[in-house]
Amino acid sequence: MKDIIPYGKHFIDQDDIDTVVDILKNHNLTQGKAVDAFEEAVAKFVGARYAVAMSSWTSGLHMAYLAAGVKKDDTVITSPLTFIASANAALYCNAKPVFTDIDSRTMNMDIESLKETIIKNPNPKAILPVHFAGLACNMEEIKNISDKTGAIVIEDAAHALGARYKDGSMVGNCKYSDMTGFSFHPVKSIAAGEGGMITTNDIHIYNKLLRLRSHGINKLEDSFINNDLAYTNDIQNPWYYEMQELGYNYRLTDIQCALGKSQLLKLPNFLQKRSFLAKRYDQAFSNLENIKPIHTNYRNTSSHHLYVLRINYHACGITRAELMNELKKKRILTQVHYMPVTSHPYYRNLGYRTSDYPESQKFYDEAISIPLYYSLTEEEQDKVINSIKILLN
Ligand SMILES: *Cc1c(COP(=O)(O)O)cnc(C)c1O
Repeated sequence: MKDIIPYGKHFIDQDDIDTVVDILKNHNLTQGKAVDAFEEAVAKFVGARYAVAMSSWTSGLHMAYLAAGVKKDDTVITSPLTFIASANAALYCNAKPVFTDIDSRTMNMDIESLKETIIKNPNPKAILPVHFAGLACNMEEIKNISDKTGAIVIEDAAHALGARYKDGSMVGNCKYSDMTGFSFHPVKSIAAGEGGMITTNDIHIYNKLLRLRSHGINKLEDSFINNDLAYTNDIQNPWYYEMQELGYNYRLTDIQCALGKSQLLKLPNFLQKRSFLAKRYDQAFSNLENIKPIHTNYRNTSSHHLYVLRINYHACGITRAELMNELKKKRILTQVHYMPVTSHPYYRNLGYRTSDYPESQKFYDEAISIPLYYSLTEEEQDKVINSIKILLN
C-alpha cells in the first residue's frame, strides 16, 4: 500500500487525531459545539455570513435545491462535466436537470452555451455552476444571467475550497450566488471522512437549511405554529418541539466536524503544496505536441483539486486504458474526471445524449487525472512524469 501513488489522497496528522480523540472522550458526539465551531471556521475562511454543515455535499445539494424552491417539473441547469451528484439532487426533487456545454479553455460552464440553453429552457429555477478541478467559473457573467432570469445560483465548489474568483476574493463568499457548497470527502481539499458545508449570506436560506438538516424541526428563533400545544399558562412547555416542514437527518457529527476544523488549519499548506506541484507538472509537460495540461494559465486562483492532462492517445500510439494499466503496473494510479453525467445509463434512459455537448465529449475522450496531493513528494512526482513521458513516446 505504501509505495502506491494514488491520484488523490488525504493527509492526517497527530493534531487531527488528538482533536478527534478529545471529542470522543469529552464532548457530544453529535449536535454539539464542534458543529458550530466548524461552521464558523468555514464561514470566516471564505468570507460568508453563514455556514451549515451536513452529512455530505450530496445531501447538501438536495437541501440547496429544496431551499431554492426547486419543485416537480422545475428546470435546473448544470454542467455535464461533473460528479453525478450535482444533477442527481435535482432528480431527488422531481425536477428536470438541463445540461449546458463546457468552455474548452476552462472546462467550466460556457457562458454563450448557457445563454442558448436558457433561450431553449426559459425560467430555470436554479443554475448550478461547477468549479471544475478548482478553477472558479465566470461568476460575474453567471450572476448577470441569473439576475435577468430570476434563477437561484448554487455554486458546486466541491473542488474549490480555497480557490479564488477572478477578482481575488474567496470562492464561497456568495457575492455572486445564493449558496455555495463544499465536500469533505477524503479526496477533496480537506477530509472529514464524509461531510459537506453550504455557505450563504441569506438568513432565510440559512434557517431553511438548518430545518431541512434536522427533520424540519423548528429552531428556537422561529415561532411555534401550534400555540395551543406549545404553551401552558403562556409559558413554553419544556418538552415541546414541532415539525413544520418535511426534513431529513442530514446532520454531520461532532467527530467529523472536529476533524474538518482541524484540517482547515492546514488548508493553506495543502493549497500551497498543490500549487507548487501543479506548476512543476506544467513545466514538465510544456511544449509537447500530444499532451496538453489544462488550466496552466489559472494557477494563481485555482485550488488545484485535480491535475488533468488532455492527451491525443491516437497520435501517441496507445489507448487511454493501456496507459492507465501500464501506469498501474508501476504503482501509479490515475482516473478520468469525468465521464459526462449524460453518458450514464440512468441518464441515457431519461433521453439525454452526450453528443449534444460536444466540448464535454471531446474533453472526456482526452482527459486523464494524474496524482496530485499534499504528501506527494518531488521524487514520486518525477516518477509519474517520467513514466508518462516514456509510455507516450
Ligand atoms: C465530490 C463531489 C460532489 C459530492 O460530494 P460528497 O460530499 O461526496 O457527497 C458533488 N459535486 C462534485 C463536483 C464533487 O466533486
